[in-house]
Amino acid sequence: MQSITILGATGSIGVSTLDVLARHPDKYRVYALSAHSRVDALAAQCRAFLPARAVVGTADGAARLAALLDGLPIAIAYGEQALCEIAAEADTVMAAIVGAAGLAPTLAAARAGRKILLANKEALVMSGQLFMDAVREHKATLLPIDSEHNAIFQSLPMAYGRAPGACGVAKILLTASGGPFRQRDVATLEHVTPDEACKHPTWTMGRKISVDSATMMNKGLEVIEAHWLFGAPADLIEVVIHPQSVIHSMVSYCDGSVLAQLGNPDMRTPIAHALAYPERIDSGVAQLDITQIGTLQFEKPDFARFPCLALAFEALRAGGTAPALLNAANEVAVQAFLDTRIGFRDIDRIISRVMHENEHGAASSIEAVMAQDARARQAAEHIVAGLSA
Ligand code: NAD
Ligand code: MG
Repeated sequence: MQSITILGATGSIGVSTLDVLARHPDKYRVYALSAHSRVDALAAQCRAFLPARAVVGTADGAARLAALLDGLPIAIAYGEQALCEIAAEADTVMAAIVGAAGLAPTLAAARAGRKILLANKEALVMSGQLFMDAVREHKATLLPIDSEHNAIFQSLPMAYGRAPGACGVAKILLTASGGPFRQRDVATLEHVTPDEACKHPTWTMGRKISVDSATMMNKGLEVIEAHWLFGAPADLIEVVIHPQSVIHSMVSYCDGSVLAQLGNPDMRTPIAHALAYPERIDSGVAQLDITQIGTLQFEKPDFARFPCLALAFEALRAGGTAPALLNAANEVAVQAFLDTRIGFRDIDRIISRVMHENEHGAASSIEAVMAQDARARQAAEHIVAGLSA
């Protein structure tokens, strides 16, 4: 019986994970669940799955949860330290907190040598080398949940040792749907609303990643994620627009072979794959009927339409704390857009300014990364304040 902690249980990935777990009560036991502010939703999950521990964001939230769970033997706590504890205590950790807030607990799971199912791409983008070093040093297991990276993982040889050349890998082809604004007149992007940006054509996801998909910063973060997960230099990673989201990514080999993973766009497939790896379990996802799909399209991304994609490649090539700078500026700008304080196109302008007006250095320690994150947030907030004044 595998014990599981879900960090970010009330989010889109958290809910899909619980859906898969509920299908296999003989294999998995929920050890702990966390949520930031949605205490009612967490209480309902706790009643259904009876974890040993539950963690929320604040003392107030913990008191409310305790009242809702009156009588149930569930230890309730709040804050980052408690998140780090539940991440270190279970066999397997689903890292599904959104943004930089997930870094500390995900790193705690790595340092405890746990099996990490990584959805929280921002943690890896911020701290790439340090995180991968911690995984290796503490013999943790890292399995990708992001559908593209899970597809790449499935398309690589079992014995892949983060050395693309040794396995004959010529290119990693990272597919992208192109989001809701792939064909929209660029001039009108200034005025799109948060709801329009969050209306993804093929996936249903949390609001931050949905905006990231509309700017294609999500794909930019995924390029950096692929670099760290698979040891692939920036030049080996190519983004391909594929609007149907049926091929989740591909690996092109030096002999001309291209291996791909296909499936309906439903995150329960990569979640079930990573949970059971190297076995296979039922995920609840319908079998892909390829004749129903009929046509698969592919096109090159337009970097002028999606400047965030170019900024992410730039940050990856710059290295050090540049990706942490990019990520922090993006988190602040996306939140400001969701709060209708700035326009959609201000997102890429803010990130570009923060990246080009601030120094970045070596990512020598987590403290250095967090300091860069804090400086970038401050710089981005300053620009937002100017724009929304
Ligand atoms: P979401 O917004 O639906 O859920 C986020 C979860 O994180 C919630 O449970 C929330 O309580 C928790 N959380 C938010 N802020 C927090 C904080 N400051 N401290 C602690 N917990 C906090 O997001 P999501 O769509 O489930 O995405 C989660 C992660 O998975 C993101 O990193 C995203 O990029 C990645 N991801 C999501 C999908 C998807 O289909 N949704 C696909 C690939 C990767
Ligand atoms: Mg993805």
